[in-house]
Order: sequence, then structure tokens, then C-alpha cells
Amino acid sequence: MTKRPQLIIDGLKATVEGKEILKGLSLSINGGEVHAIMGPNGTGKSTLASTLMGHPKYEVTGGSVSLNDEDVLEMATDERARAGLFLAMQYPSEITGVTNADFLRSAINARRGEGNELSLIKFIRQMEAKMKDLEMNPEFMHRYLNEGFSGGEKKRNEILQMMMLEPKIVILDEIDSGLDIDALRIVAEGVNAMRSEDRGFLIITHYQRLLNYIKPDFVHVMMQGRIVKSGGPELAERLENEGYDWIKEELGIVDERVGQDEEEFKMPMNTTAPKF
Ligand code: ADP
Ligand code: MG
Repeated sequence: MTKRPQLIIDGLKATVEGKEILKGLSLSINGGEVHAIMGPNGTGKSTLASTLMGHPKYEVTGGSVSLNDEDVLEMATDERARAGLFLAMQYPSEITGVTNADFLRSAINARRGEGNELSLIKFIRQMEAKMKDLEMNPEFMHRYLNEGFSGGEKKRNEILQMMMLEPKIVILDEIDSGLDIDALRIVAEGVNAMRSEDRGFLIITHYQRLLNYIKPDFVHVMMQGRIVKSGGPELAERLENEGYDWIKEELGIVDERVGQDEEEFKMPMNTTAPKF
């Protein structure tokens, strides 16, 4: 039996290009749990995802992150991936010259370690089966990574990677953006099939819609680079019905965004904040 994964983020602070974006964020995710982070644009959600994966542009200036008592912040990005952290990116990169299959096989074998590599036959069989589940055209196996993929195809490909890599902690950053309703259903089914006691999820989303398909156990609202409210699935429903304004009013927040330039900060509050 493997130990249930536990990711503990405690008071995390991070800057990008000298601006503080994460301002003391705390959150614990255990295996078997699905946490959703919701929030308007520009509140630091993607910064959290990038910081957890160790993107070099994001400098941690305070707090701690541990995965099963190991210090994540001490690890390089590839070590984090090997330890079981996975990020499905909001804007996946295109890599010309590396096929989807080559990329995935290298990633899987790096995670499994030397001497424990997946055979080519097994790998291909698994990849074919998962692509079928995700209703992906088999030719995508040999296409260059994300090159010329539509937005929806990139998102399915991120989920394919997640399914193949079997991570311990999965971070999905706006996996729903760019997906039509059928693709959203397929992606959500892929995620739901991966739910287990051995895996925890952090689902970052702007829209409540995704959470109709992937039922979260906990919902957190992010504003100004920190979590300002947490609750159960009912919180997401209230946000869908009432938008974010009531939270801002309740907490006296005028501008929910973070890292804005001085001038932007002084601009009148956006009164047409999106209602979901
Ligand atoms: P969200 O995902 O909630 O929309 P982000 O984390 O993408 O928010 O961005 C929050 C703020 O952090 C942005 O307004 C921007 O000022 C800053 N920021 C994030 N990433 C970068 C970056 N790579 N370079 C410069 N600024 C960044
Ligand atoms: Mg984002």
C-alpha cells in the first residue's frame, strides 16, 4: 500500500518580476479529495499553479510546500514531477520536433525510474486505450506536441498526460477553457475516472460549469493572491447565481486583482465583473 498523498501549502508567498502575487496562501490537499479554486481573472490562480511546479519566473519569498513531508520548494521541476505533482496548463506549450508519443514515454519512464521502464508495446497499448477514452484521433500520437492542436485538443492532450502519468497530486488550470460541452464532458469523465484515495486534485476554474461535471469536496475563492473564502460545493453554486461581488462586499475588497501597476490600481472598480 502506498501512503495517501498529502500536499500542504502553508503561507505561500511568491513574486514575479518583482511584484508580489501570492500573499500568504494556505491549503492542504489529501488523497481522495477534490479541491476547486475559483476566482476572477488576475487574482493569482495560475501563479499558484506555476509556483507549485517550480516555474523559474516565480520566486518564492515565504511559506512552505510539502508533499508527504518532503520539501517541494527544494526540488527542481522535474523532481516535483517525479514526486507525483502534475500540472495541466492553462496555455500548454507547443514543442516542434518532439512527438506526443515520444514526449509521454520519456515523461512516464522518467517518473518510473531506471530499470522500471514501461515496454514500448505496453506503452502504445495504454496510450491507444486512453486516447480512445478521450475520443482523440489516433494520429495525434505521432503529431508534434501540441503543434497545430486546437484549444480543445490541447486540453484533451493534457488530460491524456495526466491519465498516463498517474500523478499523486493533479493541478488542472482552467482545463475547461476552450472546450465545448461535449469535450468538457469527455475531459470530466477522464478526470473522474482518475479519482482515487491515492490522488488529490486541485481544480482551478473561472466558471462553475466544470464543477457540474467534476464534483468538488471543497471550494475556495481566491482574491488578491490568497484564499479569502472556503466552503463546500454550495459555495460554487452561490457564485454561479450571484457572482463574486457579495464576497468582495463581505470582505471589503475593492479590487480583487493582484500585482496590478499603480495606475491600474487607481482606476475605478470594474462594475461589470463577470457574473456566472
Ligand atoms: P489568474 O490565473 O487568476 O488570472 P495570474 O496568476 O495569471 O492570475 O496573474 C496574476 C497577476 O500576476 C497578473 O495580473 C500579472 O500581473 C502577474 N503575473 C502572473 N504571471 C506573470 C508573468 N509570467 N509575468 C508577469 N506578470 C505575471
Ligand atoms: Mg489563470
